[in-house]
Amino acid sequence: MNSISKNYKNIINEIKKYEKDFCNTSENVELIAVSKTFPKEHIEKIIRLGQRIFGENKVQEAAIKWPQLKKQFKNIELHLIGGLQSNKVKLALETFDVIQTIDREKIVLKIKDYYQKGENYKKHKFFVQVNTGNEAQKNGLEITKTKEFVKWCVSENKLNIIGLMCIPPVEENSSIHFKILRSLANECNLNNLSMGMSVDFAEAIKNGATHVRIGSRIFGQRA
Ligand SMILES: *Cc1c(COP(=O)(O)O)cnc(C)c1O
Repeated sequence: MNSISKNYKNIINEIKKYEKDFCNTSENVELIAVSKTFPKEHIEKIIRLGQRIFGENKVQEAAIKWPQLKKQFKNIELHLIGGLQSNKVKLALETFDVIQTIDREKIVLKIKDYYQKGENYKKHKFFVQVNTGNEAQKNGLEITKTKEFVKWCVSENKLNIIGLMCIPPVEENSSIHFKILRSLANECNLNNLSMGMSVDFAEAIKNGATHVRIGSRIFGQRA
């Protein structure tokens, strides 16, 4: 078996084990296979093993790679996990099923605009990204502004917000950030938590992640 397939099966088994150790039996953690920078041929290997949920961080790259794959394989769910610029909103909505990086009013209004033109009322799902480490260079809302922002997205703009997402600072213990995100999601009445990557997904599952985003442990190191 090639290494991507082997890596994938190992990750699936690890997730199952952590679910058993840390979660209520009814809960399932969704694996988002992060395929950014990798070509279609690599991605197909795990689609053929049953993987259907993928993450990309660049709108343009995904728009080139995925339409053909989505035609070829049914029930693909594609998540945008990288920052969204307002001039890419239309292409993002056409390319992705789930957008995890909602973090400012301008983007929300653009999405609302797009829907109001009646172009595509499809059932996108959205996560609000929270900058739990309060890092200047990172996207995401301030913790203290999140609750009100979520409320505004849902009630004023009818956005289908299903959860919160975070990317902890690399040099810090992720657990603290995962706990912050979980309690914030509770306050916001949101059920989904996208947190945990290759290095820390065990901790994330322990802290209630519903979606883990794993790239290099499946596809190998990126160039
Ligand atoms: C690249 C990326 C991941 C996956 O990272 P790995 O360390 O390769 O697992 C997860 N989340 C986001 C937002 C990313 O950009």
